[in-house]
Amino acid sequence: MEFFKKVEVWFVVGSQHLYGPKILQQVADNARVVVDGLNASGRFPVKIVLKPTVKTPDEILAVCRAASHSETCIGLITWMHTFSPAKMWIAGLSVLDKPFMQLHTQFNSQIPWDSMDMDFMNLNQTAHGGREFGFIGARMRQHYTVVVGHWQDDGAQRKIDRWIRVAAAVYDSRRMKVARFGDNMREVAVTEGDKVAAQIKFGYSVNGYAMGDLVESIEAVGDASVSQLVAEYEASYELSAAVKAGGEKRQHLLDAARIELGIRNFLVEGGFGAFTTTFENLYGLAQLPGLAVQRLMQQGFGFGAEGDWKTAALLRTAKVIGHGLAGGTSFMEDYTYDFTPGNELVIGAHMLEVCPSIAREPKPLLDVQPLSIGHKDDPARLLFSARPGPALNASLIDMGDRFRLIVNEIETVEQPQPLPQLPVARAVWKALPSLEVAAEAWILAGGAHHAVYSQAITSEHLRILAEIFGIEFLLIDSKTEIAAFKNEINWNDLAFGLRRQ
Ligand code: MN
Repeated sequence: MEFFKKVEVWFVVGSQHLYGPKILQQVADNARVVVDGLNASGRFPVKIVLKPTVKTPDEILAVCRAASHSETCIGLITWMHTFSPAKMWIAGLSVLDKPFMQLHTQFNSQIPWDSMDMDFMNLNQTAHGGREFGFIGARMRQHYTVVVGHWQDDGAQRKIDRWIRVAAAVYDSRRMKVARFGDNMREVAVTEGDKVAAQIKFGYSVNGYAMGDLVESIEAVGDASVSQLVAEYEASYELSAAVKAGGEKRQHLLDAARIELGIRNFLVEGGFGAFTTTFENLYGLAQLPGLAVQRLMQQGFGFGAEGDWKTAALLRTAKVIGHGLAGGTSFMEDYTYDFTPGNELVIGAHMLEVCPSIAREPKPLLDVQPLSIGHKDDPARLLFSARPGPALNASLIDMGDRFRLIVNEIETVEQPQPLPQLPVARAVWKALPSLEVAAEAWILAGGAHHAVYSQAITSEHLRILAEIFGIEFLLIDSKTEIAAFKNEINWNDLAFGLRRQ
């Protein structure tokens, strides 16, 4: 995620000439203190850059144009320190194609009751300046983020950080390339979709590549590179007897390392942020890429199995949002239920492709075991369980006339029993508000069997993402109730239908 160091958020303070140069200088000085303070907090992954105070429609238009054209600006934080008549913002917001957030804050945290005079009150009038700006946002049907609170407050800074991360993910999405090796799993519906509509909406491009080209990249990997990577495996994981040096499956591990390097080289050389594979098209590969996919996800690549490009791109986006945060993010699939009354559980996994960033074990087990699907050599894979704690599953589907993002908040639990016969990584969770309601709501919403599972990001991150992209967002959490959820689905059909008119 090197790009985080190169991009910036612009901090734009709105005012007007009415106040005179002295007050405007004070506004600029205060804004400098706020921006320096935010940057000095060290909690934001992207640098915040103060722009000169905007006081006229032309200045606002100029900064919005510059932001739209900038290769480094990921979005705008606006602050109305004083009153900025909002018709001045119409031209600028009309051309702004970067996300923006309104910071509804005040330089001072408390009212100086003893010394408060009219000058102080005129200078610190966010309370109504922010409302004037809010009106034009609403009037122009802008879907944007408002953060209310003192700029030094932990809660307000957390919300600013949340928005910055999503803005960075939007920036990444608009540049993302997704490589598909093979097409969809045959006859599967939910992994299909309109790639042209997705590119218009999310900016990423999705294209197919021949397995032969990938095989060429894999065969071009030298033995020395393979040995080096296997040494890295040995340092990073517990190796089963079968894959240790001299073990009966050692060759499978060497093949897996070569596949990892071949896919990685292909992705890096092509500038791809995400990729898909499908077990129905492994022509020329010795085994299904399991270990390779697991490790590439950990390195930040998005992935979708069985040609699922929507989940691959969403996974990359979630990785960007969660960059540097505690907890991992993985491709996931609801696999099996435990319907024990009062303790209903879901086991999530995939055939092989679960990202070790979510593992509770510091050193997952590296093993080679048979796979009953794909008709290839036994593939290498990392085995682990997910660390307990709050997490979410997210699914992006194509409704034909719009994209819908469905999120279910879950609580990952300690695996209650060992699973000695299950040779795949997995997570065990309780769905909120209950398995009964969560699964019904997910199914009614059309959520896929594939999901992005994340311990690092929250549903609020994904809500902001959906707002910026202008797509539907459905949340299943502790408060979800089926009758209201059904209404929400029906009303959304109407709302998105009206938007198209
Ligand atoms: Mn699958």
